[in-house]
Parts: sequence; structure tokens; C-alpha cells
Amino acid sequence: MSYLEFKNIIEFEAFTTSHSGLLLIDFYATWCGPCKIMAPIFGKVSEEISLKNITFAKIDRDENQELIQKYGFEIPTIPRFILVQIEQGEVKILSDLGGTQSKTQMVEKLLGFIEPNQTTEVLDQENETTVRKNRVAIIGSGPAGWTAAIYASRANLDVTLYQGPMPGGQLTTTTEIENFPGAWNIETKKGLFGSDLMSTMQDQAKHFGTATEFESIESVQYENHNDLTTFTLTDSLQREKQFDAVIIASGATARYLGIVGEEKYVGKGYHSCATCDGAFYKNKIVAIVGGGDSAMEEAGFLAKFASKVYLLHRSETFRASKVMLERVQKNPKIQIVTNVAVDKFVGEGHLEYLILKNTNSQNINPILQDSDFEKIDDEFNKLVVQGLFVAIGHDPNTKFVANLLDVDAAGYLIPQSRLPLTERNSKYQMATKIPGLFVAGDVEDHEYRQAITAAAGGCRAAMETEKWLAESID
Ligand code: NDP
Repeated sequence: MSYLEFKNIIEFEAFTTSHSGLLLIDFYATWCGPCKIMAPIFGKVSEEISLKNITFAKIDRDENQELIQKYGFEIPTIPRFILVQIEQGEVKILSDLGGTQSKTQMVEKLLGFIEPNQTTEVLDQENETTVRKNRVAIIGSGPAGWTAAIYASRANLDVTLYQGPMPGGQLTTTTEIENFPGAWNIETKKGLFGSDLMSTMQDQAKHFGTATEFESIESVQYENHNDLTTFTLTDSLQREKQFDAVIIASGATARYLGIVGEEKYVGKGYHSCATCDGAFYKNKIVAIVGGGDSAMEEAGFLAKFASKVYLLHRSETFRASKVMLERVQKNPKIQIVTNVAVDKFVGEGHLEYLILKNTNSQNINPILQDSDFEKIDDEFNKLVVQGLFVAIGHDPNTKFVANLLDVDAAGYLIPQSRLPLTERNSKYQMATKIPGLFVAGDVEDHEYRQAITAAAGGCRAAMETEKWLAESID
């Protein structure tokens, strides 16, 4: 790794007053899962772009609020990569390079700021990776994807895993995993953090030979020649690669409420991931929408930072497991409010308050007794919060195969195991109707949606892929 760490404003200013050139800053936090996933990518980019006039540095966002305010850095979510120009002690913000991203995306963005004669080495390295030949592609980097990669690589297949827009998947947005067998510290009696579990799986897969790409796949096409299928995958940089078999393990994405105008508030008071953004709300009042295990888990996480957490649920019955609901009910910082829906966001720039609609006209709502609430009429209440989080379920990520595969009523891909026997065209359970195209994990499972079931699906898909390749090609 060839980057610096500025621990405080003094170290930052000691550097900026004695250096000139470009500085790429990684604003991170110690508790942030996506930051841990991005750390090795930042390290790799810093090694590959070892140029004289660009320096890489990390700054802990939580510990350096004074620095952030003094220099006008805007950090709506973390990690955040910001490129600055330093000249004679002056610090000028050149570009916000965004948050979680692939190595290639970061390199491409940086190249726009580097002199042409300095870029040859970097481009050569990028070109080298595009000519490699591959056989099995795995799309997705959650437990299903990495488990499939471990099994397929150990089976001597030539495996490339596409990490996609959220390396590590949904587990990187959660805290401790208490129910993944074996991912448990015997001394502390605690589970591994989601991001650590994913980094461990990634390391295991790489050890056995999995090659990784950080891009997302935008389309999958296939053609048959003399009974041999070739898949062509196009990634987000419009690069194409050919494979003999593909495992789709692209998971699912968090849902937003779908209220008109809500997109204006995303990152400005409105969030879908408490473990990513919860710490922005230290000593502030926040609300979370949902009645499932995710909402319970995230409400508990938010209560570690916020002064008060309202858990807003549209009915009186909860999908959450009894143990997780009880944990929330016992937390003195969390107030559960049932029979309400968010109707409107209000605020100039940042969310200032919510308009809540009573979803049960018979309900005499106890929330009206709380000072944060203001009754508007019998149907609507105003709730003053600085942040709103949603935990209302997920949508499977299937857009890139919409032209190829059918989905069920909830939008999930359908493996052979879920088809009636008369409609199956393959003996393989994780196979789709297209020979050589397999599925695993949350993208096909709307029932269990657990890390352990996703990992099991990845194992089955990889073993079946190996057998299918042996029968079809070898
Ligand atoms: P769930 O589908 O279980 O719950 C979604 C919740 O959101 C429901 O209460 C639903 O309300 C509500 N909801 C859905 N759409 C809206 C909307 N538009 N407006 C308001 N509310 C809405 O999803 P989860 O993400 O909570 O959990 C998914 C799976 O993951 C589950 O199997 C769960 O057990 C598991 N999980 C396990 C964890 C653990 O064990 N540590 C942690 C987190 C998740 P309604 O009930 O009225 O439909």
C-alpha cells in the first residue's frame, strides 16, 4: 500500500503546506462495512498509479469534522473519494469521485486528471486483464457468489467473479452475523461482522484461483454452435468476455418507499442502510420504516447513535421474529409506532420533518402524546426527524437477464428446482432453462434469504456447473 493517513488537521496541513500536486482522499469510518471493502481497492489503485504528482491518503471522517468543515468537503455517504489540487498551501477541491466503486472505475476517473504521458503504465495494466481467457463467470459477490467461486476454483475451473455495484453484497451493510455457523468468536461469544465474513470468503476464493472484476454485468447473451454454448457478458465499461458457463448470484437491492420526490432526499436525510449511514445521526432524532427483522436490527443499530428512534410500521402485526421484536421493545431509546405510513418528506435541501398518514382510522394513535409529533388533523401527523431509514425488503437484481429468463410474481429468477417436474428441461436443480446458465442466492430465493442458504445455493450451483461442463464440453 502506498498511501498516507492524516490523523488530524495538523498532519493534513503539514502536508498541504509542504507539497504540490494532486491528492486523492479516502474519507472512511472505522465502523463502516463498505469502507472496509473499498480499503484494498484504494490500496491497489495507490500502488498502480505510483506517479510523482499524485498522493493517496485516508482520513477518518468521524475524527476529523473540523478539517472537513474548514475545507468545505461534502461527504453525504461513506466511503467518499475526493480529489484535491494542492498548490502553495492552497487546497482546491477538483472532483468528487463518488463512493463504493471498482478499481477500474477509480483508475479511469483519475486518468482524466493525469497528464497523457504519465498514463501508459496504468493503461497497459488494464489492457492485460482484458485479454485473459475465462470459462466460468460468477455474477455477484455476496455469500452465494463467493461460495460458488470457492467450489468452482477448487474444481480447477477458470473462474472470474464480477463483484458488481456493491462488493460483498448486503452483508457488508449489516453488523454482527450471529447465525452463520462457524463465523463465531469462541472467546467473545460474538459473531463475525458481515464485512469481515465477506472479506474472508473473498480471500478464500482468491487463494484457490478466482480472478475478480469489479464491474457490474449489463447484459448476458449466448449462442449455440455444434451443441456448445458460448456466453458473452458485457460489463459496465462495455467490455465483452466469453464464458462456457455462468452462475448468476446477483442478490437483491434494498427498496425505497416510492413517495413522489423522495429521490431529492436520498443521502440528505433519507437512507436505506443504517449500518452505512447511521453514525451521521449522533444525538439526533431518526425514524425507521418497516416491521421485519431488518427494521428491528437496524433500529437497534441506530439507537447506538441517535438520541431517539421511531420505528414506523404500517400495521399492527410484525413479520420480525419474536426475539428481535422483543429486543426493540425493550430498548428505551426506540419507540414503536404502528398504523402509520410516511406520506411526504419536507425540508429545504435536507429532510426536516415527515408527514405521517394514519393507516387505520379506528386507531387512536398514542404517538400524539409525544413532543416530536404535531397533530395536523384526524388523518395526518407531523413528525420532526433529522433522518429517515427504510428497511422494507428488497428487489432481486435481474435487469441484466430480463431478455433471457423468466421471473416469478415477486420478480425472482426461477431455478429448475422450483418448476413442476413436467416443465423441467435439465436434471440440475440450480440450472435455468438455458443450458450452462445457473442461479444461486437471494436472486432466486424469496423464502429463506439468509447468508447460509445463499452460500449453500452457491455451492450447489458450482457443483452442478462443474458436472454440466464435464458432460457438455470435456
Ligand atoms: P421482510 O419482507 O421480512 O419485511 C419487510 C417489512 O417492510 C414488512 O414489515 C412490511 O410490512 C414492510 N413494508 C414493505 N413494503 C413497505 C412499504 N412500501 N411501506 C411501508 N412498509 C413496507 O423484509 P426484511 O428485509 O426485514 O427481511 C428479509 C429476510 O431477511 C427475512 O427472512 C428476515 O428474517 C431475514 N433477516 C434476518 C436477520 C437476522 O436474522 N439477523 C436480519 C435481517 C433480515 P407488512 O408486514 O405490512 O407487509
